Amino acid sequence: MVSSISRRKLLLRTVQISVGGALASAVAATAGAAECVDLKAMDAGEQSTRTELHWAAMTPNPQQPCSKCGFFMATSADCGQCMIFNGPTTPSGHCDSWAAKS
Ligand code: SF4
Repeated sequence: MVSSISRRKLLLRTVQISVGGALASAVAATAGAAECVDLKAMDAGEQSTRTELHWAAMTPNPQQPCSKCGFFMATSADCGQCMIFNGPTTPSGHCDSWAAKS
């Protein structure tokens, strides 16, 4: 029985560490996105284009991040330039114009 409780505690601790790591990564990605793309600094036209193309700093499709898009050019580890928007985007971002790199 003692062994069973220990396994439960170990499993719980493992889950807590995994969730904590995932949250830390998400927070870091969000912080990186905020530093890369400042939507408030963009004019209405730029913001409108991003809205129309459903741009997101974090892709809803892990298979299609900006970093794997043919229109993306990395400028740093946390930021890049999108040729469609002619502006910044995050490597983890996404929009409707995503096209695989050739
Ligand atoms: S076209 Fe869209 S998916 Fe491709 S780099 Fe630009 S924002 Fe990202």
